[in-house]
This record gives sequence, structure tokens and C-alpha cells, in this order.
Amino acid sequence: MIVEHDVALARFTTIGTGGPARLFARPRTLPDLEEALALAGEQALPVAVVGLGSNLLVADDGVDALVLRLEGELAAVEVDGQLVIAGGGAANAVALHAARNAGLAGFEFACAIPGTAGGGVRMNAGAYGSDWAGVMKRALVVSSGGPAWRTPSELGLTYRHSDLGDGEIVARVEVELQLGNPDEIKAEVKELNGLRKAAQPTNRRTFGSVFKNPDHDLSAGRMLEACGLKGHRIGGAQISPKHANFIENADDARSAEAIALMAEARRRAREQFGVLLEHEVRFLGALDLS
Ligand SMILES: Cc1cc2nc3c(=O)[nH]c(=O)nc-3n(C[C@H](O)[C@H](O)[C@H](O)COP(=O)(O)OP(=O)(O)OC[C@H]3O[C@@H](n4cnc5c(N)ncnc54)[C@H](O)[C@@H]3O)c2cc1C
Repeated sequence: MIVEHDVALARFTTIGTGGPARLFARPRTLPDLEEALALAGEQALPVAVVGLGSNLLVADDGVDALVLRLEGELAAVEVDGQLVIAGGGAANAVALHAARNAGLAGFEFACAIPGTAGGGVRMNAGAYGSDWAGVMKRALVVSSGGPAWRTPSELGLTYRHSDLGDGEIVARVEVELQLGNPDEIKAEVKELNGLRKAAQPTNRRTFGSVFKNPDHDLSAGRMLEACGLKGHRIGGAQISPKHANFIENADDARSAEAIALMAEARRRAREQFGVLLEHEVRFLGALDLS
């Protein structure tokens, strides 16, 4: 396995911002992954993993860590009966395609979530009333202590949360689905994609939802819209004019500008609604939202 130095991470995030990783490797097998973790241990470096970078903001001055991207076997998808078995680095679109071809239903919700199986479990990603916790049977988590299978309850999956810590890497996920009709699955996916396009900036560089929905009548997006923040811009980063819980890279944005927008949005929501919004997007490197 090749270990690269100072690899720019901006191209591995959907918002397209962020500095370099001190070390970067692309493990393709479980032994590769264990080798990478051992290397990080020897060098006393933290380990981080990027999936499709679709809910990730990386510090502009980079990350002092070994950053991993799972490829090869660790990004492959196979079907066994009613199980879709996806490598942690497998894109949701690939897993959904395999499920549909095998006539397996229940994973349609993931059609509009541009992430990987590992990112899905880490975030307990979800949409339209379903989430990873509801469809997955178990995940193979690899850490410096070795591999172990964990169920959703052992992973502590709740709304956009898991108990997984840094250095705990989802290498494989088993998703258990129901028998369904491929044409109906296709129609459902088309309908959900249509709903998504109508409501969210799907053709812009973003990192998905900025904040989790608070325990309030209004969603985070509606709250920020009511604060008059749609279209608000700092440098190259802009709160989406279409959906206020998205930040767009409108023009060569930096992560620091996205953070400044998030801080402003939080301040305004607190002032107007008395609610302290919690960020959903994950930070990599030294980023501070205070
Ligand atoms: C246009 C758009 C729409 C979106 N819509 C939704 C939505 O409807 N619902 C929703 O929940 N999310 C949504 N998202 C956010 C995002 O797609 C999900 O959170 C997704 O699950 C993140 O997966 P990823 O592979 O991109 O993870 P990344 O963004 O790369 O990483 C996110 C976190 O997961 C960790 N991680 C990634 N891979 C692994 C792994 N193998 N093992 C352990 N940890 C890992 C990272 O270290 C990081 O902490 C959207 C994003 C975009 C850009």
C-alpha cells in the first residue's frame, strides 16, 4: 500500500474546500487497513477516514493525521440472498443499484444521499423517514484493537449520530432488505429524486445539511430562512438561496468562510429562537465553531 504525503483533501470533499493530509493512504483489503492502522500507531498519528466527503469540512491548513480512503475490496458491493454486503467505501448509488438488480427493496431512501456505506453508518444517514439504523444488520468495525462486528444498537445509532470514535473504521456493512419489484424500486427512486431536486441545491457544491434539526416546530432550514439568511454570503461561501440549511461553494470558497457563515447562522438562530443549533457536518482538522 502506497502512503502519500501532503495530499490535498479539497478534491475528496463535495464542497471542494480544505488543505492537505499529512499522510494519505487508500487501503483496498482488510490486511491493508490493519497495516495502515499499525503505521499510524508507530508514528503516533491520529487516523481519519473520508468516504465521499459529502458531510465533511476540512480545515484550510490541513490535517495532521493519516487520512484513509477505502477502495478495492473495501469499496465493493455484493448481494447474498436478502443481504447487500457493501465495503465501507462503497457509494450508496452502487449499493442501491445492486439491490434493485437483485429485486431488493428498502434502500431507496439512500438514492439522494451521496455518501458511502461507512459514512452512512458513521452519520446514521437517513431521509424520507428511513435511516441506516433501520436497514443495517451489522457492520465490521476495524480499529487498532482489531476487527469486530457490531449491531446498530452496539454502534449507538440515533438521529445523525453513532458512537463510533476516530480511528474506528467501518470496513464492511450488511444491509438486510425485503423482496421487491425492480420497476417499483426504480419508480420510487425517481419520485424521491424529484422531491429532492425541487427542495435542495442538488447541482451545487455543498456538504449536505449544515445543522441537525433541533427539537422545535421549525426545521433548521426553516429557522435560518426565517432569520433572513438565504443567500447570505461570506467570501466565496453562501447560504443556499434554495434551502437555508445548505452552504454552497459559490466562488472558490475556503472552509474558514463556511465556518464564519455557520457561526453567524448559529448566532442569529439563538437570538431569534433561543435555540443553539448543533452542526451535522463533521470537521476534520482544527476547525472551531464558537
Ligand atoms: C447534496 C447532498 C445531500 C445530502 N442529503 C443527505 C440526506 O438526505 N440525509 C443524510 O443523512 N445526509 C445527507 N447528506 C450528507 C451525507 O451525504 C451523509 O452524511 C453521508 O452518509 C456521508 O457519507 P460520506 O461517505 O460522504 O462520509 P464523509 O462525508 O466522507 O464523512 C462523514 C463522517 O463519516 C466518517 N466516515 C466516512 N467513512 C467512514 C468509514 N468507512 N468508517 C468510519 N467513519 C467514516 C468521516 O470520518 C466523517 O466523520 C447529503 C449531502 C449532500 C452533499
